[in-house]
Amino acid sequence: VPRIAVLALQGGVAEHVEMLRELGAEPVPVRSAAALSSGPWHGVVLPGGESSTMDRLLRRFRMRDPLAELITSGVPVLATCAGLILLAERIEDPAPGQTSLGVLPVTVRRNAFGRQVDSSREEVSTAFGKVDAAFIRAPEVTAVGGDVRVIARRGSSPQGAGAVVAVATDQVIGMSFHPELTHDLTLHSEFVRRAHRQRHA
Ligand code: GLN
Repeated sequence: VPRIAVLALQGGVAEHVEMLRELGAEPVPVRSAAALSSGPWHGVVLPGGESSTMDRLLRRFRMRDPLAELITSGVPVLATCAGLILLAERIEDPAPGQTSLGVLPVTVRRNAFGRQVDSSREEVSTAFGKVDAAFIRAPEVTAVGGDVRVIARRGSSPQGAGAVVAVATDQVIGMSFHPELTHDLTLHSEFVRRAHRQRHA
């Protein structure tokens, strides 16, 4: 069974854990550098929440560099919302002092579609299938580089029609929305397939 490190310092962890279990993986909530070093890991999940808070806690708990190294080593990654912001090489409008792991060549703009009250639920067409997605203070991907592919744009939403809301490489699947809040397994299934391959590699 693939072991998945689910970053659990802050944010929406439980729904990811439940979905990964349902898909036959072994999710392990990770809250310390010691837990992070208790691999082997066949995948990493970075949940939604508040990216600047996660960034601060990662540094305080000395988890930032080992997490960046784990990801750079090539394990499959699934990141939602704040998690995608953590991965980004560039944040257009960081909170004061906010840094990121800088491991994915994309630029993101935080809270690109408005505030919490502008949250919405929409169907999003992705390269891996249609996803029932919740947008909550979601970031927009404003630039992609390297081998990053755009796998979804926002539909005819009044807020930001056509905006890039999901990207992927052979290693990373990153989305601005929350498929875990609607229990949509489409992207998690692809991630768990990748984690299985990683385990057998
Ligand atoms: N706006 C949040 C941030 O900057 C992300 C919101 C979310 O994860 N739902 O991290």
